[in-house]
Amino acid sequence: MSPTITDPAVCTASSPAVPPPVRRLTGIKPTGPLHLGNYLGAIRPMVEAQTDPATGATHGVVAVVDLHALTVEHRPHEVRALTLEQATVLLAVGVDPRRTTLFVQSQVPEHTELHYLLECTTGYGEAQRMIQFKQKADGQRHVRLSLLTYPVLMTADILLHDTDEVPVGDDQRQHLELARGVAERFNNRYGDTFTVPRGVNPPFAARIMDLADPAVKMEKSAADGAGVIYLLDPPDAVRRKVKRAVTDSDGEVCYDPDRKPGVSNLMEILAACTGADPRQTGHGITSYGQLKSAVAEAVIDTLAPLQRRHRALAREPGQVQEVLAAGAANARERAGATVARARRAIGLL
Ligand code: AMP
Repeated sequence: MSPTITDPAVCTASSPAVPPPVRRLTGIKPTGPLHLGNYLGAIRPMVEAQTDPATGATHGVVAVVDLHALTVEHRPHEVRALTLEQATVLLAVGVDPRRTTLFVQSQVPEHTELHYLLECTTGYGEAQRMIQFKQKADGQRHVRLSLLTYPVLMTADILLHDTDEVPVGDDQRQHLELARGVAERFNNRYGDTFTVPRGVNPPFAARIMDLADPAVKMEKSAADGAGVIYLLDPPDAVRRKVKRAVTDSDGEVCYDPDRKPGVSNLMEILAACTGADPRQTGHGITSYGQLKSAVAEAVIDTLAPLQRRHRALAREPGQVQEVLAAGAANARERAGATVARARRAIGLL
């Protein structure tokens, strides 16, 4: 008798095993309101990856990493408010909790437990060598010990969730190497415990610069925010900031990031918001005034739907908190198993 398709023995033997989805982790620090650079460089690609058939085999793990916000001077009520606001914005942008594990880092206490176990596997010299530590500690009178150990907490964030891939920009590459080194050392010394993560280039290479100073990246913690477009900025604020964007004096609309960083940044924003190539966005635009109006309107159109959804969600903070609680519960299942493996391996009862 020939086997049928429903014969379990045949199905098991003949169908290739489906590989588990690649797990990709993104952390967002609640040190300031989310801005256009966060959206174009990190959040939009993450949301698109949820439905892209090419990346259908990817599972997103997204954490608002509030513990990292405590490594520098902070105001408790601001960190709390920003944590909820960022989670609300992430949901408004389209992070789908059915496809992405979305949670707040401090609500998964395994992060701090694994952090400690990994501190016992990391050298003082290794932490002290981190360029970001040197930069952030430079000139500070009171440097928090957590600023030194923060890359170890980041290592715990990554290893805890069996992360395969971490999208990293240049500034985080050294920290990812530390995470890989710590994972390999732990595995070699105490037995196979952690997935060793790999860094991947962000799927979309946007690097949005500050409108008021196109030599520096648009940042959450920018001093006065004059050149930062926040995702919740109302249209008139967007128009005002874009109108005041620094350009240059030669008046030529062309894409040349080295020679014309301000104009090229505006063209890049326009391209990212309209789905075009930055080198083509200048066609038909003959003055900086025209370019700025086009950029402002494109940004306003891009932000409008997420701002609408944000307004609706912000009226129901309880619902957002429920989503976060469910995300934390989901994250804790895997995190608990990872910590249990690490505890056993390192010699705890
Ligand atoms: P951060 O604001 O440093 O917490 O970064 C959160 C995510 O946004 C990271 O994946 C960054 O690479 C990305 N990001 C931050 N600033 C920018 C920017 N100006 N342009 C593009 N991506 C950015």
